[in-house]
Amino acid sequence: VTALVWVNGRRQRRTERGVSPLDRGFTLGDGVFETLRLYAGAAFRLEAHLRRLARGASVLGLEVPASLGPDIARAVAAATREGVGDAALRVTLTRGIGAPGLAPPAVAHPTLVVAIHSLDAPTPWPERAITARIVSVRRNEHSPLSSCKTLAFTDSVVALAEARAAGAEDAILLDAAGHVSEGSASNVFVVSDDTLVTPPESCGILPGITRAAVLDVAASRGIAIEVRALEPEELLLAREVFLTSTLREITPVVRVDGTRIASGEPGPVTAACAEGFARLRG
Ligand code: PMP
Repeated sequence: VTALVWVNGRRQRRTERGVSPLDRGFTLGDGVFETLRLYAGAAFRLEAHLRRLARGASVLGLEVPASLGPDIARAVAAATREGVGDAALRVTLTRGIGAPGLAPPAVAHPTLVVAIHSLDAPTPWPERAITARIVSVRRNEHSPLSSCKTLAFTDSVVALAEARAAGAEDAILLDAAGHVSEGSASNVFVVSDDTLVTPPESCGILPGITRAAVLDVAASRGIAIEVRALEPEELLLAREVFLTSTLREITPVVRVDGTRIASGEPGPVTAACAEGFARLRG
């Protein structure tokens, strides 16, 4: 894996030390991030990612440095020059160095890291299909932070570990009210009757950019869509279940909690969404 890294706009050599150990991103998770895809060197839905980053930063009361756009453009251009094609680009923005305690410094000097990792060719369809488990960790739909991609990701880390320990490949989290929320780092879709259903933002989800793209694809193909709260039992009874995320695109789920979903094969609506998404990303 090739990793190209910039800290506050400066290219970081592989052996160099980067961010301060006193950085609040490291000590408190006080920051936000975005992961986006470069397909053949072009960023997919960059504007949507920047909007989500800005919204999360505003919830945290963090200012987005004006250098963000140019820093990303420079990093993408360098990656292209260095022959990186398909890649993940991660932007991490923190409140920078802080004193002990929680109170932010009077004048924040944010830390901005742009890192590009080259990616292997995606797993061919339908070998992407996975198993999932509904875990005990919950999303808090009452917290404004659930809809932000903050650096505090340990709920998801522990959720994934719980699923893996139970022999499943990914975790599905419920919200505090017991409705289906999302995957550990993905959004959930089910096909119930002939309708594509995905939980709304009021169920504590991160509003995924792949989720929005899939909703666009489904609408353009005349697939019926409902954005509504889902009971966990509806997952088990669904015709199809799939997860969406920037890194894993459309991933069919063929077992939940050990129960086979329909025939146990990825279904036609999932395939249509994946095909439509592949066209969108070019
Ligand atoms: N939910 C969570 C918690 C995530 O971390 C991600 C990955 N960013 C998603 C959903 C999917 O969002 P996106 O499609 O924008 O990658």
